[in-house]
Amino acid sequence: MMLLFTPGPTPVLEEVRLAMAAPTIHHRTPEFEAIFQKAREALFQLLPMKEVLFLASTGTGAMEAAITNIAKKKVLTINAGKFGDRFSKIVKAFNLELVELKYEWNIPASVEDVKKALKDHSDIDTIALQICESAGGLRHPVEEIAKAAKEFNSEIAIIADGITAVGVEPIDVTNIDVLITGSQKALMLPPGLAMLGLSEHALNRIDNGKGFYFNLASELKKQRQNTTAYTAATTLIIGFSKMMEIIEQNGGLKVLFEKTKKRHNALLESLRAIGLTIYPKSPALAMATIIDEKNANEIRNLLKTKYKINIAGGQDHLKGKIFRINNMGLIETYQMAWVVNSIELALNDLGLREYNGDAVRIFSKMMESE
Ligand SMILES: *Cc1c(COP(=O)(O)O)cnc(C)c1O
Repeated sequence: MMLLFTPGPTPVLEEVRLAMAAPTIHHRTPEFEAIFQKAREALFQLLPMKEVLFLASTGTGAMEAAITNIAKKKVLTINAGKFGDRFSKIVKAFNLELVELKYEWNIPASVEDVKKALKDHSDIDTIALQICESAGGLRHPVEEIAKAAKEFNSEIAIIADGITAVGVEPIDVTNIDVLITGSQKALMLPPGLAMLGLSEHALNRIDNGKGFYFNLASELKKQRQNTTAYTAATTLIIGFSKMMEIIEQNGGLKVLFEKTKKRHNALLESLRAIGLTIYPKSPALAMATIIDEKNANEIRNLLKTKYKINIAGGQDHLKGKIFRINNMGLIETYQMAWVVNSIELALNDLGLREYNGDAVRIFSKMMESE
């Protein structure tokens, strides 16, 4: 069996798989409504906002729904990777006007650049950006950007793609209007379920909604009655409830955030100690991204073939130059210890550095400390 350590999809726990193995039930029944109500309450915990919604789609569906239902005329996007680029493509696909701030994939967006763009284009009504841009594992200063934007013009709506940030770290939603997440990242569920948190301002913007399948007003109306506009993704909703229960049994979200942060520190330190270079200037807690233009591919291949660990590579211009290790979800310390040890072994296999156990030693020591 292979360890799945890609920053999405993440592995699905056995308890969750078993919960989802129950026979399919009909979605228009009191039985399912009770399940949905429980899931909706758990979603309010995860996304502490005025309203929440499930959508039967991958995360991209929620990104599209947010743009079509919230944006009016002109959208500012932050493009520092694949997912920022996707927001720009969605904006164009719906014939909205686009202003894009483009960055190299390891550089976080600057608040000053955003302020300047808002001054230069006073008709921008919406900003769409990633909290963590997964293409490079980069954390954008979303809270600061959102605050500056609201100070400039409180009518501007902020759409935050938190697909690799929700369930990873606490997010200050004070100035965020739409917070998006998806099932196959920190929530360790199969792909196919997206979730949105909405502010009061977002609810006003939605009004009667736009589009058809992704009309958020239709969904809001139904989901407030503990059902969905179209056939609910019943199995995934059941899985979601189970996963939230497991997180609760493990100390709740606060403990999950603390553990994720601690493991991230230990992971980054142990990789640095064996001479590897962290790619992003502001690493997000969701993953560790290493840049090694010469050896990234070979390290990744060895991990897969010899050490039975599946990690992710890079895309586009970073193909073969970076690798990304997942840090989202309920990860066993011994599994991550094997990951860092295997990377050190792979460096030895490639004749790049003699193995001395530094990585696993530093990782374990840091995981033990208070
Ligand atoms: C995974 C991911 C998405 C959504 O991708 P889907 O394949 O549509 O689920 C969006 N944004 C970020 C930052 C992601 O990591």
